[in-house]
Parts: sequence; C-alpha cells; structure tokens
Amino acid sequence: MHSQQVTLRDNLDAVKERIARAAERAGRRAEDITLIAVTKKFPASTLREAFDLGLRQFGENYVQEFEGKFPALQDLIPQGAHFHLIGHLQSNKARKAADMFRTVQTVDSVKLAHRLDSMGAKLDTMIEVKLSEEDSKEGASPSDVPAIADALRNSKNLTLTGLMTMPPWSEDPEQTRPYFRRLADLARRENLVHLSMGMSHDLEAAIEEGATHVRIGTALFGKRRKD
Ligand SMILES: *Cc1c(COP(=O)(O)O)cnc(C)c1O
Repeated sequence: MHSQQVTLRDNLDAVKERIARAAERAGRRAEDITLIAVTKKFPASTLREAFDLGLRQFGENYVQEFEGKFPALQDLIPQGAHFHLIGHLQSNKARKAADMFRTVQTVDSVKLAHRLDSMGAKLDTMIEVKLSEEDSKEGASPSDVPAIADALRNSKNLTLTGLMTMPPWSEDPEQTRPYFRRLADLARRENLVHLSMGMSHDLEAAIEEGATHVRIGTALFGKRRKD
C-alpha cells in the first residue's frame, strides 16, 4: 500500500471517530449518519482508493469535471458506488447530470425540478436551501421550498429525500450552527428526513443539529489545489 493510501486510511479513521463521538454526544446512532466523500478536484484514482477503503458515497461539484472521471469509475456503480451532485446544476447540464449521478442534492428551482424529471432517469433529490443573504451562494430561499417540494413530489422520476445547505464560510462552527438548526426546522415542517449539512471543520455541530449526510473533503483527502 503506498503512502497516500495509508494517509487516507488514517484520515478516514479519524473522520469516522469524529462522527461517532458527535453522534454519541447527540444521543444518535453513528449508523444513521452517512459520510459523503467530497472528491472535487481529485482524480478518479483518488475515488478508487477511497472505494477500496470502503467508502461508497461520493460528492462531486462540477458536472464537467466529473464527466472526465466518470468513464474510469463506472465499474464501481454495480459494486455499490453512489455519486451525489453537490454543486450548482445549470438546466443545460441536466442531461449529463441525470446520466452520471444517482442523487442531485442541489435542486433549487421548480424549473430545474421539471427539467431533471423530463430526463427520465430515476433520481433521488434534495433541495438546496440558501439561508443567508450572501450573494455568491446558490440555493432556493426558504419561502420557495414548499413549491419546489411539491414539484419534486409530483414528478414522475424524482424522489425527494431531504434538504441540503452550505452556510456562509466561518472557521467557527458555532457561527454555522444556527444555519444547521434552521435547515432542520425547515425539514421538519416539510416532513423531510434527510439533512445534508456539515463539512470537514463543522461536522460535529451539524450532527448535533440533526445532519443525516455530512460532506467531507479536506479532512479525508487534504487540501485541494486552487483553480
Ligand atoms: C467542497 C465542498 C464540501 C467539502 O468541504 P471540506 O471543507 O473540504 O470538507 C462540502 N460540500 C460542498 C457543497 C462543497 O462544495
């Protein structure tokens, strides 16, 4: 086993330990929290190493980038790999996204819901919610969530499983905790079970506030290259 994989294995152990401890503190079961390995900007070989260490859920941000890796990874799907789109989806990329991903976590408009449904692929979906006024963030405003949820629930091919959010960046998890709490409240009101929230530096706060899916990149794979 070469050194990169040893590091990944150590990192994975550490992340699992953090998840287990946070779950315990919150009186939850660690098995109820799904670890999604975020592999943006890492090559297909990194996903394969992670797969070999037992990871099955992967998050990718960019349709175009994943298109480049997907041919080298397709054989992992029948073996249980599950690819989540966690970055913004433009309508004109819906076809490609529907072909490669099993879950689209970033549905943020009724229009996109209709467009994805029309592709005919059976997909799990989440609604990405924007809980701050920060301009750069994608996502639906909370007041639009009921209409998007209706569109997804009335669709032919899409299953709505929950909500996803990406709070404004802060080093301090206590700054993001209120966003996690708001997403959990919103999900309760919409009778949605899954909550995709929490990243490398704030997964504990997210789990304490009810996250069912944490999206972890840096803590597993190290720093990403800059664009
Ligand atoms: C990059 C990214 C992550 C992972 O962030 P880390 O801090 O590297 O764990 C999670 N979710 C989304 C939407 C991302 O873009």
